[in-house]
Amino acid sequence: MSRVYNFSAGPATLPEEVLKEAADEMLDYPGSGMSVMEMSHRSKDFERIINEAEETLRELMEIPSNYKVLFIQGGASLQFAMIPMNLMKNKTADYVVTGQWAKKAWQEASMYGNAVKIASSEDKNYSYIPDCSDLMISPDADYVYICENNTIYGTKFKTLPNTKGRPLVADVSSCFLSEPVDVSKYGIIFGGVQKNIGPAGMAIAIVREDLITEDVLIGTPTMMRYKTYMDHNSMYNTPNCYCIYMCGKVFKWLKKRGGLEVMKKQNEEKAAILYDYLDSSDLFKGTVQKESRSLMNVPFITGDSSLDAKFVKEAAEYGLVNLKGHRTVGGMRASIYNAMPKEGVIKLVEFMRQFEEVNH
Ligand code: PMP
Repeated sequence: MSRVYNFSAGPATLPEEVLKEAADEMLDYPGSGMSVMEMSHRSKDFERIINEAEETLRELMEIPSNYKVLFIQGGASLQFAMIPMNLMKNKTADYVVTGQWAKKAWQEASMYGNAVKIASSEDKNYSYIPDCSDLMISPDADYVYICENNTIYGTKFKTLPNTKGRPLVADVSSCFLSEPVDVSKYGIIFGGVQKNIGPAGMAIAIVREDLITEDVLIGTPTMMRYKTYMDHNSMYNTPNCYCIYMCGKVFKWLKKRGGLEVMKKQNEEKAAILYDYLDSSDLFKGTVQKESRSLMNVPFITGDSSLDAKFVKEAAEYGLVNLKGHRTVGGMRASIYNAMPKEGVIKLVEFMRQFEEVNH
């Protein structure tokens, strides 16, 4: 077996230990004689799997008891609609647009009410996070929305916006569990799990209890009401059982490694290796304003698109794959989520140095 270092933005690399464990249990989840894929979601075994997954996540993130943890199919994009449908009582919400994903969320919300773009970094191709210390919050805003880590552009909010008392809703798809967060500062934290946590096909939404009501927009389907998930322990219908099982394993893996403080330290170390090199290189350069740099997604360019393409191709031959940047930024992007080992980043920088020597 020869595994590569996979720098994909998502679905992304998962901890090898977790994949091996899942492989060992593929045919016989201990004591059940069947795979988790074949198991009823109403069985005792699965009930334990989902409950343990939630408990471990609560421990890791120190989630206060007045927040619900909901496992919801449809990925992060479904949340772009569920959020306004469940929260837009005054038909107004404020959006900070820092990239394509925030823009998509804003556009989706516009179908349900007045979605106001209160700040944006579009003027510089989303290469920075705007100052959000004194935003023009709409007087009747039901919530303020941010995309906390911008996967495509490689920017991250270092301080949360001042929402002037409105609930903060944050898409954390690409920074989920990468560092400790104070959950009590948010109304909703949500993300697709296919980057830092598990396989694709599910989002986790951590929602403050008072925001979950029956008072939703007219026509909101049963499966798009947070209350449905809260009332049925995320099992109103058949959930994404296997994904929940894998997420639970990753939560335990994180706990075993020391939790989110340790992850933060390791992620800072990994990112520094790459950013320090980018800052010293004469060939490669980062595309993001230094103060806004993400620990998870690191875009960089040479300035010459044919050289970029050569780099991506040769890196893949060296066992470093999925380094092509998003089409709107060009160049390269290294996604270095929790499960990317430090050795992977060291090997990447080693290869970049070699490439620079030959091509500059
Ligand atoms: N938000 C962010 C920040 C993302 O990076 C992505 C996926 N790349 C999405 C939302 C969309 O996620 P999904 O495919 O799960 O709908």
